[in-house]
Amino acid sequence: MIDPDYIIVGAGSAGCVLAARLSEDPGVRVVLIEAGATDRGRWRMRMPLAWRDTFMDPAVGWGFESEPEPFADHRRVPAPRGKVLGGSGSVNGMMYSRGCAADYDDWAKAGLAGWGYADVLPYFRRSEANWRGASAYHGGDGPLTVSRHAPDRFVYPRMIAGARALGFSELDDFHGARHEGFATPDFTIHRGERASTAGRFLHPSMRRPNLRVITDALVLRVILEGASAVGVEYREHGRTVRLRATRETVLAAGAFNTPQLLLLSGIGAPDAIEPHGIKVAHALAGVGRNLQEHQSIALTYLAQAPITFDSHLRADRLAHALMRWFLFRSGPIAGLPVSVQGFVRTAEHLDRPDLQLLVSPVSMLARPWFPGWRRGVGHVFSAACVLLHPSSRGRVGLRCANPAAAPRILLNLLEAPEDRVAMRRIVRFVRRFFATPEVRALVRAESMPGAAVESDAEIDAYVRATVRTAMHPTSSCAMGAGEDAVDDQELRVCGIERLRIADASVMPTIVGGNTNAPVIMIAEKAADLIRGGESSRGGDGG
Ligand SMILES: Cc1cc2nc3c(=O)[nH]c(=O)nc-3n(C[C@H](O)[C@H](O)[C@H](O)COP(=O)(O)OP(=O)(O)OC[C@H]3O[C@@H](n4cnc5c(N)ncnc54)[C@H](O)[C@@H]3O)c2cc1C
Repeated sequence: MIDPDYIIVGAGSAGCVLAARLSEDPGVRVVLIEAGATDRGRWRMRMPLAWRDTFMDPAVGWGFESEPEPFADHRRVPAPRGKVLGGSGSVNGMMYSRGCAADYDDWAKAGLAGWGYADVLPYFRRSEANWRGASAYHGGDGPLTVSRHAPDRFVYPRMIAGARALGFSELDDFHGARHEGFATPDFTIHRGERASTAGRFLHPSMRRPNLRVITDALVLRVILEGASAVGVEYREHGRTVRLRATRETVLAAGAFNTPQLLLLSGIGAPDAIEPHGIKVAHALAGVGRNLQEHQSIALTYLAQAPITFDSHLRADRLAHALMRWFLFRSGPIAGLPVSVQGFVRTAEHLDRPDLQLLVSPVSMLARPWFPGWRRGVGHVFSAACVLLHPSSRGRVGLRCANPAAAPRILLNLLEAPEDRVAMRRIVRFVRRFFATPEVRALVRAESMPGAAVESDAEIDAYVRATVRTAMHPTSSCAMGAGEDAVDDQELRVCGIERLRIADASVMPTIVGGNTNAPVIMIAEKAADLIRGGESSRGGDGG
């Protein structure tokens, strides 16, 4: 193979975008290397309602879990990541969110020029084809379809009335002039199918002769010559291959695997590398530090009447819905059951929402049922509560020098006392919401944690026992200007030439919303930084 100009490691949400954008120039050769298999032929992955089965499927996931979490009853918490073309974006929940403008303005204030919201908005716009059409806030003809969730005509107005009773407005767009309020979320769904970056960016580019995609190939390390990255070593079909890049190597292996690869390559804090028998090539303290995650808990409520999604799960109706999806890509399987979403400040002193509340008309344990065969779980509303700006910090390290071994992940959920206080506040806020007359009329009782859990100590115990993640790990190779920075504002790894990072790991602080769209934005911007034409190309929204 002729040496490519660019090697991209990891064909996830970011890697697929980057490969598609860089290969737009027929004069450059791009190689994209992915540890997982192709996403072709996996129809369940394309089926929106099947996402919960998909992300648990070991055939397309890494199956990571955390170390015993010291502040969460020493439980190991699942940390799923996609291992397939499209990466985690091929198994995710498809919710489209950017967080709020102030999250990015904070990045700029911390010294990262070019990362304020006004700077990155053109990249959000360029990537998307939003159902609202093109506007100052949205792109109308980008590759990533962002579609509307049709609200339930019975439940939704009552949930909105409940939000209004607490002083919140109904929004027509979480990414328009206002961010705080209630509405239904947008989804990355294209004509009834998941819209991953593999499907929307990569596959349409794969006919290009200057783009080569290698699947089922695990990158083992970055090859360094002095302080310069010259390529990678990867394992394919049992043999080790060395591939050189004439211009740059870009790591897009995600918030767990990118720091792992740097450490395996000898880039990181010496005490994180040497105990595994690896020689330090470049000391860089921040690698794997600063890991951030959205901590998430759930409350559940028994519905007053059979008004929830459980009705659709009766086996005969489900079979009908499946047929509808296969024939027309429509019906209950072509979307996700959501009653309402809120971005909410749960305390007056906050300058932006600290809670993302997602009420779904379905239990997390829901399953198909039929009279005489097996019982369903019943009619339930689940309130998933995500703490948007956690102070707790985790880390990613090596378990051993074997690149095929899982990295050591400590999420440190609830480590920061202020996160525990915020979780209490969140539980109490959700209870106030469900106690508003309109919402109360929909439910019989709180089933989890249940009314008996009332004092601070009882709520804390419930949170410790049930806290999980929103599956949004970020910031483990954060951009910055200080000593802990792993990369600079142009995504270049500090102290190493010709090596960049473009994935969730570079976020200096986690944004207050789902992370897929922000990662896609990062990859869009990375493409321009690499091509060297940032300001002229970002702003056209096309
Ligand atoms: C179950 C789940 C639900 C989620 N729900 C949502 C949601 O509803 N909305 C939202 O916005 N976000 C959601 N997210 C988060 C979002 O999908 C991620 O933030 C985003 O996909 C991360 O993109 P990335 O490019 O950083 O990493 P990934 O997409 O994880 O890509 C990394 C890629 O690198 C590959 N790779 C790793 N190591 C190597 C190696 N050594 N060699 C070769 N290849 C390698 C991986 O296999 C993978 O394909 C969810 C995530 C999960 C897992």
